[in-house]
Amino acid sequence: MGKVVGETEVMVGSMTSSKSGVVIKNLEVAFGSLEVLRGVNLEISPNTITALMGPSGSGKSTILRVLNRLIEIYPDARVKGDVLLDGRSIFEMDVVELRKRVQMIFQIPNPIPNLSIFENVALGLKLNRLVNGRRELFQRVKQALEKAQLWDEVKDRLNAPAGKLSGGQQQRLCIARALAFNPEVLLADEPTANLDPENTAKIEALFLELKKEMTIVLVTHYPPQAARISDYVAFLYKGQIVETGPTKEVFTNPKHELTEKYVTGRL
Ligand code: ADP
Ligand code: MG
Repeated sequence: MGKVVGETEVMVGSMTSSKSGVVIKNLEVAFGSLEVLRGVNLEISPNTITALMGPSGSGKSTILRVLNRLIEIYPDARVKGDVLLDGRSIFEMDVVELRKRVQMIFQIPNPIPNLSIFENVALGLKLNRLVNGRRELFQRVKQALEKAQLWDEVKDRLNAPAGKLSGGQQQRLCIARALAFNPEVLLADEPTANLDPENTAKIEALFLELKKEMTIVLVTHYPPQAARISDYVAFLYKGQIVETGPTKEVFTNPKHELTEKYVTGRL
């Protein structure tokens, strides 16, 4: 089974029936003379959580930055290869449109601290003229906060500054801000690394809900998190994917020595 994209037949296997899988093809990234991704190939199936794991510096964040073309803000970054979203090259898309479809959250929650909780979620919708009128705006913001499982905690103080929220709440606010765009892909770069176990558990449970509606690419340097919530893992080492497969398989029966060392905490 293949999917016809222009003149090219692209094999996407089981992904042909669903929308918005991601295919990374021969991706190479260098900063000046430093090669940080050296031929990465990966298929990310829709409606899954795929964990990118690997030691610090292995290139995990760089992969995410390519997937929404954030990499283009680095003047010395050179990118080769291709990334297909729903069968189309992201490099042929309008970058603003791409970033609505592929949203990202970071390790350190980054709401605008002096702006209200409501406005943090509303701002992107307003700037991109995605809503008509106050009423629709309110509904969209409410829906995003509900989906991020934050609504009940903030509904009585929507005008409070976002900076007053706890770290875990701020991260869920950033997720709400991302969800306001109804993205097809959510990129999460170590989203719980700064959170306590309780808030980490909340966000992990939230991701398991969200994957019903979108594709999640989760970067983690903490293998137990990948084991708990991901469907697939890709283990990255020095800019290359050493091993990839269903999470259970990779954790119980790693094929590569480096993977085995990594998942058992010896790397
Ligand atoms: P990870 O997220 O796995 O820790 P990164 O993708 O952030 O790894 O980084 C991979 C490598 O690329 C590291 O050696 C890092 O120092 C280097 N790197 C990342 N961003 C830049 C940049 N803007 N300029 C130069 N080198 C960079
Ligand atoms: Mg990183």
